[in-house]
Amino acid sequence: MKILLINDDGIHAPGLWAAAGALRHAGDVFVVAPDREQSGVGSSLTLRAPVRARTATVDSVLTAGEEATGQVTAHVVEGTPGDCCVLALERLVGSVDLVVSGINSGSNLGWDVMVSGTVGGAVQGFVRGFPTIAISVGSVRDPKFEGAAHLLRLIAQRFAENTPTNSLFLNINVPSLPLDQISGVQVTTLGGRSYGESVREEGVEPNKRYTIARDRAISGDAQEGTDIWASKNNRISITPLHIGLGHSEQVPEIERLLSGLPDQLLSSRD
Ligand code: MN
Repeated sequence: MKILLINDDGIHAPGLWAAAGALRHAGDVFVVAPDREQSGVGSSLTLRAPVRARTATVDSVLTAGEEATGQVTAHVVEGTPGDCCVLALERLVGSVDLVVSGINSGSNLGWDVMVSGTVGGAVQGFVRGFPTIAISVGSVRDPKFEGAAHLLRLIAQRFAENTPTNSLFLNINVPSLPLDQISGVQVTTLGGRSYGESVREEGVEPNKRYTIARDRAISGDAQEGTDIWASKNNRISITPLHIGLGHSEQVPEIERLLSGLPDQLLSSRD
């Protein structure tokens, strides 16, 4: 099995190498990661400048002892997680059997997937038709990756035995807890808004600066069965994603709202 591993926390992030160590039990792992932290860049790509990439050293945690069949190689990219995924699949690695993004430090729940570099980078695997997994643990401070790494190993081994035929994009959130404190595993739906932004203002004109942080937990929408709910209940959440922002149900309502506007606009041409 050939596995592409990207992330948004950068090539030195412990979660990346925890994932590499787990995935090499299922196949060869091709790490292609940003040279620095890129959290929160979503699915952005570098389109207006060349992107540098070079081979990188595999983290020493993987060279010690443990027997595993798969080889691990690494590239570091001076770009976004999306750049990493595109360069890997188009040039550096080519076609793969599985794309994994993570293991991210910090959860990516509900509408966070719109901002997440972990999920945003993985989109480039999904749109190319590869089975794709984004995986995060629920803590930025002192994250515990063991549960997430073990889960990745099990899922990758299942995919190696039984290749998913349909296109598949899973967003997985694992509590940052020892395995024996995790309450279960649940396939969930995407919840609503999970984090809000706060803005801090500094300085005076013309040197005003604003600092945006995503640090306001919003818990209102934690309905049972959502990823947010599962996470609050110390469960591993596995949410199938697709790309579907279009709101077709609203087309008639918007047509009514704007009735007469096309004629109004076009009749004003002379
Ligand atoms: Mn991150």
